[in-house]
Amino acid sequence: MTPKEVIAMAKENNAKVVDIRYMDFIGTWQHFSVPVSEFTEAAFEDGFGFDGSSMRAWQAINNSDMIVIPEPETARMDPFFKVPTLAVIGNIHDPITSESYSRDPRGIAKKTEQYLKTTGLGDTIFVGPEPEFFIFSNIRYASEPHAAFFEIDSPEGHWNTGTDEMPNLGYKIKPKHGYFPLPPADQYQDMRTEMMLTLENLGIAMECQHHEVASAGQSEIDLRFDSLVNMGDSLAWFKYVLKNVAHKHDHTVTFMPKPLYGDNGTGMHTHMSFWKDGNPVFAGNKYAGLSDEALWAIGGIMKHCKSLCAITNPTTNSYKRLVPGFEAPINLAYSSRNRSAAIRLPMYSNSPKAKRIEFRTPDPSCNGYLAFSAIAMAMIDGIQNKLDPGDPMDKNIYDLPPEELAQMESAPGSLEEALEALKQDHEYLLKGDVFTKDVIEHWIDYKMNNEVKPVISRPHPHEFYLYFDI
Ligand code: GLN
Ligand code: MG
Ligand code: MG
Ligand code: MG
Repeated sequence: MTPKEVIAMAKENNAKVVDIRYMDFIGTWQHFSVPVSEFTEAAFEDGFGFDGSSMRAWQAINNSDMIVIPEPETARMDPFFKVPTLAVIGNIHDPITSESYSRDPRGIAKKTEQYLKTTGLGDTIFVGPEPEFFIFSNIRYASEPHAAFFEIDSPEGHWNTGTDEMPNLGYKIKPKHGYFPLPPADQYQDMRTEMMLTLENLGIAMECQHHEVASAGQSEIDLRFDSLVNMGDSLAWFKYVLKNVAHKHDHTVTFMPKPLYGDNGTGMHTHMSFWKDGNPVFAGNKYAGLSDEALWAIGGIMKHCKSLCAITNPTTNSYKRLVPGFEAPINLAYSSRNRSAAIRLPMYSNSPKAKRIEFRTPDPSCNGYLAFSAIAMAMIDGIQNKLDPGDPMDKNIYDLPPEELAQMESAPGSLEEALEALKQDHEYLLKGDVFTKDVIEHWIDYKMNNEVKPVISRPHPHEFYLYFDI
């Protein structure tokens, strides 16, 4: 679409306002609106000004002016506002130099796509995420939103304690029994369908929706794969649509990785592949029908996994998901069909076009643009250095004897550990100036001071259970 076509689109749809959106550094979608009269062709050159010092980890107060320049391709009619509104995603630039801002996540994603091309290893990065999430009833949880904290340590988890709902509201799914009973156990079929169809109407292709393994409310809606920047945009729309559809029905969607103790957490398995001249770079005749490049790309993810986690699993809560026994990958291994390995090679289809790597560690608390970029950069590094991923692990890792398990590398145990790893290991992210030193430093600094330290230093509710009566 050209700027002219976007302006025509606003007119055709009778839009009264244009909503300008961008992803902040941490991963929250931000917006402001202008009357449609302000949305001229010049706006696609000059952008719209805003205060960069009010955004987390962006500009200092004495250097705060920034502009956001709309990307014509991203224009869509917003499905929620009462007043017809055209929404368009923008890129962040410096108003003086008009250069792309180094801490703009979307800018980083664009640079990742460009960098792959310059390496000659491919021209397209396809990304297919499987975001999971919980849907909670506002009515049931509003009075005790932290009910999960107070559950006792029983094999029934929070299901059987009776603290989360009085009276009993009926057909309840037990912890880890949510994959796939029909209604009335599954209460959310219509809501998930509405989410899926709202996204389809926005032109974002969907693959399926279903209840997930955890008890009542855990769900998954899968996006059809797309190129990296497009998928960053789609994931922003995805979270926005899910939260707003749920809100409309007095429910709340959360992408928090581990909201309930004793039940499965929320992951975002991410399928990745490189393509060149319309051909799949990862198809070949090695293990699981893969090419050498695919195996080296796995080697890259395995080598950098700990530092990668600081971006793909960027919250303190992320590490409460990465524990044994809940289908979350802890050990750094790869395998076809084995869901206990961090990297799975899906075998649903033998077609060369379907050859891809499923990285199961990421969770949806990440900033999609940054997470997809970081994974791609680790894969590129693996291919460039022909990193051998070792032998596949085709056994159930959860059942391995402790001696064998001890040999295996595992995911970081905390956000702090992941950030420490990122401090040591980030050269692979700096290639092609994709992530800059400034980005890495600000990321670590923000996460340590605003998340790790405040969480560690607060008395935890479970400490009251353990120690109040000591
Ligand atoms: N919820 C699990 C995770 O944390 C995955 C469950 C599944 O998709 N089979 O990754
Ligand atoms: Mg899935
Ligand atoms: Mg799933
Ligand atoms: Mg999966």
